[in-house]
Amino acid sequence: MTVKAYQEDNIFAKMLLGEIPCHKVYEDDKTLAFMDIMPQAKGHVLIIPKQKAVELSQLEPEYASAVLMTAKKVMQAQRKVFDREGIIQMQLNGAEAGQTVFHYHVHLIPTNIHELGKHAAKQADMAELVQQAKQLAEAIEQA
Ligand code: 5GP
Repeated sequence: MTVKAYQEDNIFAKMLLGEIPCHKVYEDDKTLAFMDIMPQAKGHVLIIPKQKAVELSQLEPEYASAVLMTAKKVMQAQRKVFDREGIIQMQLNGAEAGQTVFHYHVHLIPTNIHELGKHAAKQADMAELVQQAKQLAEAIEQA
């Protein structure tokens, strides 16, 4: 089974190029974290590497490590801002697994597994995403 080729025009690649906006939570030289536009729970964040990888099998070690380090920062901020003990870390490889955007990304979803909302189903209120991104970014800066 071969992995799908990386498509340069995917939505996350366009975010990295600054061609489409996102509600940024954190950025460094290897990663970008931003609010999921169709959250499965309040505070749902995506972390992407600045590497052209469709899925985990293609991720270079330095980017894999950078994504996890950013995920740790975001997770601590989510705990503080949303006062949730449960944070689901999810990452889908391949359309069959439910992947819908073909640039590698990790989901961090503050919720209870039994309350997890439907995947990529309902658009969030943009004002709420702006506020949540700001709160998370501030929490990361203060950490
Ligand atoms: P996947 O199905 O590939 O694991 O997850 C893709 C995620 O990207 C979904 O949770 C979906 O809600 C989110 N998403 C899709 N399009 C956009 C977008 O334009 N902006 C943001 N911020 N998230 C998006």
